[in-house]
Order: sequence, then structure tokens, then C-alpha cells
Amino acid sequence: MKYALVTGGSRGIGRAVSVKLASQGFAILINYVSNEEKARETAALVEEAGSSAELLKFDVADAEATEAALTAWQQAHPDDYIEVVVNNAGIRRDSLLVWMGPEDWSRVLQITLGGFYNVTRPLLQPMLLKKRGRIINIASLSGLKGLPGQTNYSAAKGGLIAATKSLAQEVGRKGVTVNAVAPGFVKTDMVEGLDEVALKKTIPLQRFGEPEEVAALVGFLASPEAGYITGECISINGGLYS
Ligand code: NAP
Repeated sequence: MKYALVTGGSRGIGRAVSVKLASQGFAILINYVSNEEKARETAALVEEAGSSAELLKFDVADAEATEAALTAWQQAHPDDYIEVVVNNAGIRRDSLLVWMGPEDWSRVLQITLGGFYNVTRPLLQPMLLKKRGRIINIASLSGLKGLPGQTNYSAAKGGLIAATKSLAQEVGRKGVTVNAVAPGFVKTDMVEGLDEVALKKTIPLQRFGEPEEVAALVGFLASPEAGYITGECISINGGLYS
């Protein structure tokens, strides 16, 4: 059995990625932080796609909780390892920097950058030993272009892209690839409250993306066909920025 861990797999892009990777034959570990009902719905969709699912509840920003959950999983599966990790868990806490409180600054960085560190580091050793692994980080258009009201989020996602490039150079010779995906506006709970009608006009393809479109790209990066791609950040944004 090949295993893939999707952080923030209960909803949105993480759910679509879980279903896509399930259709590619991976057993899915669905991480979430609070929304058990939605995580169970994802698990049912994974099973419908012909694979199996396990729920792993932990806050990726909490180093101890993350380590405890991943260690417990490894102990329960001594002969297995997690071959694919999709660092997808994320939040946004938008405001102009002049008004941004310290909690909104640090929480966004802790989940995106701290989460990347807390989740990826313990999973690396088995990947390196097996000489096979895929690390896929969900970044954002904001991390490439910057967006007003998102200095915290842009800093976190820009940092994640830079970490992707560094780690790719560390682990390439051990058969592990590390890539990032940078979506533009995608229809999930995260974009609730944005003015879709106005924003659509700024996008060459004149629409928001679907989570399944991002999942298709992640599925490709996890597939054998993408074996010679590493250290990349691939945009998927309807032509908004390149
Ligand atoms: P979403 O619908 O709001 O879902 C967020 C997911 O992250 C949920 O599964 C949530 O779990 C989980 N999560 C949040 N904080 C967590 C934590 N501390 N520990 C573990 N899990 C946590 O968001 P989305 O739009 O699918 O976004 C997924 C990723 O894509 C994020 O990294 C986001 O920054 C990125 N992205 C999104 C867009 C967009 O337009 N939607 C664009 C660019 C990039 P619960 O259900 O338990 O709360």
C-alpha cells in the first residue's frame, strides 16, 4: 500500500487532492484541525474513489501534536511509510499591515511555514531511506506577486516557495522531489466574502478555478510521469500572473 498525507484534507483543495490521489491508488491520510464532519465526508469520497482513508486530527502549527500523530501512525504501520505529502493546510487573516495584530501575523506564518517544517521533517527520513518520495507544497499567487492586505500570507507563501527550492536541492539525489503549486483564486471556503464578480474581470480566463483543477496538477506532480520535475513552483491562476 502506498500512502499519501494531505494536510487540511477535510475541505476545499485538500479534499479534491485527497480524492485525486485516491484515484491514483494512494491510501489517504486526511489531516484536519477541527472539522471532523467534513473530514469524514472526504474519507467517504476517498473510499468511493476506490481507496482507503484514515483521519489524522492535529494542528500542523503545533510541533508536539504533529510529531505525536505522525509517530503514532508510523508505530501502527511499521512496514509502511508516507511516500507523498501535500502541505496544504492554510488560513488567511487579511488586513493592511498597519492594522495587523501580532496574532494574525504569527498564526498565518505558524500554520504555513511552521506546518511545513513540523510535518515534512519527520517524514523525510523514511523517504530518503526508501529513495522515493514526493513533497508538494500548496503556495499561492500571493507568494509570487504579493497582494495588498496579505503581507502575512504573502510572506508565508513566499517563504514556502523558497523552502521548496532549498529542500529540492538537498534531497534530489535521494530520489525525493519537492515542488510547489501556486493557485490564484479557487472556489473554496477560503475565498468566501471576496467580490467574485469584480475579481473575475481581472482574470484572463474570467473565472475562479475549481479545487479539482488544482488537484489534477498535484496528482500529476505525485505521478511517475513527473519524476524529472523538482524545485519548481507551478502557477495555476487562469492567466492572472506569470
Ligand atoms: P479551506 O477551504 O479554508 O480549507 C482549509 C483546510 O486547512 C481545512 O481542511 C482546514 O481544516 C485545514 N486547516 C486549517 N488550519 C489548520 C491547522 N492549523 N492544522 C491542520 N489543518 C488546518 O482552504 P482552501 O482554499 O482549500 O486552501 C487550501 C490551501 O490552498 C491553503 O494553503 C491556501 O492558502 C491555498 N490557496 C488557496 C487559494 C484559494 O483561492 N482557495 C488560493 C491560493 C492558495 P478544518 O476543516 O479542520 O478547519
